[in-house]
Amino acid sequence: MNGTAPLLEVHGLKKHFPVRRGLFGGARGVVRAVDGVSFSIAPGETLSLVGESGCGKSTVGRSILRLVPPTAGEVWLGGTRIDRLPTPQLRPLRRQMQVVFQDPFSSLNPRLRVRDILAEPLRNFGLARRGRGLDEQLVELLETVRLPADALGRYAHEFSGGQRQRIGIARALAPGAALLICDEAVSALDVSVKAQIVNLLAELQARLGLALLFISHDLAIVEHLTHRVAVMYLGRIVELADRDALFAAPRHPYTRALLSAVPLPDPAAARNRIVLRGDVPSPLNPPPGCHFHTRCPYAFDRCRSEPPALRSFGNDERPHLVACHLDALPDRSAA
Ligand code: SF4
Repeated sequence: MNGTAPLLEVHGLKKHFPVRRGLFGGARGVVRAVDGVSFSIAPGETLSLVGESGCGKSTVGRSILRLVPPTAGEVWLGGTRIDRLPTPQLRPLRRQMQVVFQDPFSSLNPRLRVRDILAEPLRNFGLARRGRGLDEQLVELLETVRLPADALGRYAHEFSGGQRQRIGIARALAPGAALLICDEAVSALDVSVKAQIVNLLAELQARLGLALLFISHDLAIVEHLTHRVAVMYLGRIVELADRDALFAAPRHPYTRALLSAVPLPDPAAARNRIVLRGDVPSPLNPPPGCHFHTRCPYAFDRCRSEPPALRSFGNDERPHLVACHLDALPDRSAA
């Protein structure tokens, strides 16, 4: 994807939530859910945002979509800055970025037939054809996600989880999206269905040139479909690299621990599992310095006071960004 102008650019994105005490209490503190996140995605590229529950990855997606207003930073879509854009100007751009949510059981209105679910975004953006033309349009959408035409007359609850997620993808594609934000889009599905939906997303990307922001805690799934990976910890990106570089040689201690927990295809193969001590600290009161120092097996004094900046260890064409004071990780067996 290098050399292609980015479709999505995110610079220093922050989303802080004030926390109040009681109904009339004053501000008690701030949850720094997203605390200065930067990345870009080119057309036809998949960037996966990974990390444990509560690391802020879903809030990044919601901030880009303006489902929650960002606190600071910039979001650019196709060369237009959208993070402060008034709603009337944002509206036509919204059709370019659509979301596929985790739970196909709750994200589709059970009282609507598939025809109405898919026609709604077309009507919202003034894209619906008239009369029988609309049905042709809807059948084309169903074919895109490999569902039969007779699905139009059925209700969402009549479908399996995987089929519902196909409907969710068709709904996201209906307005002609160039960017799909998939927020744990396959997490609720069975293993074999997960693979089918991942294959469908890859096929759609190749056919339509879609950019994908794939938000997931599941590194095993991510490895199959992504071009690059950004690893988040407590609101910050700690490592961002090409997939092959990151999976073959993770440079951040947190990434190494996450990868050590991914099941190997061969159950007999040996892997040194790195078990992190403690839980993820609260984003209401993150540790000073490197947020990861309370769990890092390599922490030293500097880590407790100075936040590490993202540094590049790759070349200019394939940057491998890492936020750690160490220049290299000690041998794996030392962890
Ligand atoms: Fe560990 Fe220090 Fe690197 Fe943070 S900066 S990941 S605490 S070695």
